[in-house]
Amino acid sequence: MQDIGLFELDRPREECGVFGIYAPGRDVARLTFFGLFALQHRGQESAGIATCDGRMAYIHKAMGLVSQVFDEDNLRPLKGHLAIGHTRYSTTGSSHLRNSQPYLIETLYGPLGVAHNGNLTNALELRHSLLERGVGLSSTTDSEVITQILAAPPEVWHHGTPDGDDLGDRWIARIRAFMQVAQGAYSLAILTRNALYAARDPHGLRPLCLGELEGGYVVASESCALATIGARYLREVEPGELVRIDRSGITTVMGHLPERRALCVFEHVYFARPDSLLEGKVIHKVRQAMGRQLALEAPADADVVVPVPDSAVPAAIGYSHTSGLPFIEGLTKNRYIGRTFIQPDDHLRQVGIQLKFNPLSANLEGKRVVLIDDSIVRGNTAKPLVQLLRDGGASEVHLRVSSPPVRHPCFMGVDMATKAELIANRLDVAGICEQVGADSLAYLSLEGMERAIAEEQFPEQAHCNACFSGNYPVRIPPWLTSEYREKLVFEEMWGS
Ligand code: SF4
Repeated sequence: MQDIGLFELDRPREECGVFGIYAPGRDVARLTFFGLFALQHRGQESAGIATCDGRMAYIHKAMGLVSQVFDEDNLRPLKGHLAIGHTRYSTTGSSHLRNSQPYLIETLYGPLGVAHNGNLTNALELRHSLLERGVGLSSTTDSEVITQILAAPPEVWHHGTPDGDDLGDRWIARIRAFMQVAQGAYSLAILTRNALYAARDPHGLRPLCLGELEGGYVVASESCALATIGARYLREVEPGELVRIDRSGITTVMGHLPERRALCVFEHVYFARPDSLLEGKVIHKVRQAMGRQLALEAPADADVVVPVPDSAVPAAIGYSHTSGLPFIEGLTKNRYIGRTFIQPDDHLRQVGIQLKFNPLSANLEGKRVVLIDDSIVRGNTAKPLVQLLRDGGASEVHLRVSSPPVRHPCFMGVDMATKAELIANRLDVAGICEQVGADSLAYLSLEGMERAIAEEQFPEQAHCNACFSGNYPVRIPPWLTSEYREKLVFEEMWGS
């Protein structure tokens, strides 16, 4: 039976959350479980934890939410002093246990576990190289490709790679060799017999931060996972940086020379949890700044400001502050609906979005509403949301979007949609407004979005905004942009 997107909002999908911990004497599996709990929003289709006690490695992973995958019985055997964990979102066609993470294999130098967030743009080439060398692969993900590259002696992949000290196991040299040949996005947590490693691609496309807790250190996609387990945020793992954590503490080396910083701007727009700290600022405040900027750029003659819950709430607060219009709740969200494998009947299919949202008529009756959303990708949920507000009594609905129109697909680890599916690629703003049935529609400008982020952040930060601008920070091979590739990638190859 097919998983349906009936309850899914029109959003790009972050592919993964990664977590790693080195803490002798602590229950690392349990701490990883709670860390993954905090990263659940980054992937809901599978979850896994691998641990190592210096001799043996242990793993449990399965399809489902973190709370569904783990219980006392399967956590207890995950012994050790270091662990990595992963939550994964996958697209249609790649939703199989064999694609779930972490990957764990045995190598000449003991166990190797890999948890990956991102997407390698040269994954197919690397995959072919592995197959030509006789390395068998059991899944369709680039994360398994990474694991197998790391397992090989470094000179196989990069001649002249410096050894590093590596206590004889050469893991630093192996990871460095991988970083020389890999292109695209990767934030990695790597488990070996005696050490935890964290590595981030030279552009820093996907987030990764470092924290400290009593008895050890933690790495995680977002700082909210550190806070959940009582760890203290230290800093971000820098683009191109390779961190080793072992009984001596933290060692940091340059894995690859950093290139133009290009953190995915959609982390600010939608992906990251509002309480997470990214590039030095709390995401909730950045989104409020986007809402304030949107109110300056696109005022509306209206009575109230209503967010699409929950992700657009901070932007709606910002819009309300600057416009002077009161912020109210106009849509009630069913937070327990999740995903379902039960097929809807024809009527339910038509009402779709009403299963997730209900209008709050008492707040809407006779009101001219500014509806704030954080993004529109395919445009298939904006229309029913506008209609819901009208059904609830709103006399006018003015849609305002706190990011620019999405016109280009993502090749760096985000399931966006194919180019043909993006509504802003097919229609101009007036055409989209007509299609969704709003009284008016306006987006935040690209310059306005960057200004809002800079207002809340270190001004030298730069971002990938390719899905808005078409300006990709990494070279995109021509075959990757074809419709054929899009189908291939979205259905099979999109890894992590
Ligand atoms: S293309 Fe868009 S979604 Fe992809 S990494 Fe860049 S900003 Fe993020």
